Amino acid sequence: ATPTALLVGTGRGSQLGILIRGPQVLEQTRRVDTIVLDKTGTVTTGTMAVTAVLPGSGVDADDLLRAAAAVEAASEHPVARAVVEAAPSVATVESFRAHAGYGVEGVVGGSAVVAGRLSWVRDQWSIAVPEDDRTRVAELEASATVIAVARDGVYLGAIGVADTVKPTSARAVARFRELGLEPMLLTGDNARTAERVANEVGITTVHAEVTPADKLALVQRLRGEGRVVAVVGDGVNDAAALAAADLGLAMGGGTDAAIAASDITVVSGDLLVVADAVRLARRTLGIIK
Ligand code: ADP
Ligand code: MG
Repeated sequence: ATPTALLVGTGRGSQLGILIRGPQVLEQTRRVDTIVLDKTGTVTTGTMAVTAVLPGSGVDADDLLRAAAAVEAASEHPVARAVVEAAPSVATVESFRAHAGYGVEGVVGGSAVVAGRLSWVRDQWSIAVPEDDRTRVAELEASATVIAVARDGVYLGAIGVADTVKPTSARAVARFRELGLEPMLLTGDNARTAERVANEVGITTVHAEVTPADKLALVQRLRGEGRVVAVVGDGVNDAAALAAADLGLAMGGGTDAAIAASDITVVSGDLLVVADAVRLARRTLGIIK
């Protein structure tokens, strides 16, 4: 990952639909032996929909959705749009703040609302979550990414959102292995959702429930082991890991932060194109005949 200003499309690269930051990127691409894949928006479509609403005791489901949607309307995270679309109406938010990899906060109608990982809502905001609700969240995690919501210090409930694996992701993972690259899945999402997606695409090494700082630390550790590491991501939460990688690749539909931190932008967001880029680099530099 190099902090040069502009991405340029060069020859075959632009035909493939990849934007390459500079000529040195080809050599980095050729040498890669480990490929770390972000889950949401990279292996999966990132187009999420609400699959379950679990209001806390005495809370109205629409009230829960409205409170969450008001803060999520200001977020660019894939879960945010799903929540906004499911809400009956969306109120204005003030003092909005996004915490990359954790959740969002803001003031809605004079009340402080937080929405994010259950552990973050509990520990960072000291929200008491009743035992019953914790059990229901754990059950929902088998099939969804779960967002916990609180208002003025009180637990309002949880919302499950899910997306699907991109149609080419499994084939791309197989292609990575053929090229001798070891694939790993890296996500801030819960471990059960991460395992389900990993199984679906054929990845066996999974790092789940990680923070953006953990993502960076993993890349540094892998490089310390002598690996040449590519990171593929799309989110603000991936930016540090993308910048620290030997090769950072951003998905075209991703956030500006991810694109700015990367050496290559894959315009279509198709992981097969990443495999094609590695083959192209090796062929161009005479490794594959
Ligand atoms: P990923 O690595 O899968 O792209 P992130 O690191 O962005 O995921 O987020 C990790 C977790 O933090 C999410 O699964 C979600 O629980 C929570 N989170 C992040 N951003 C938001 C948001 N805007 N609203 C609610 N929850 C969020
Ligand atoms: Mg992502």
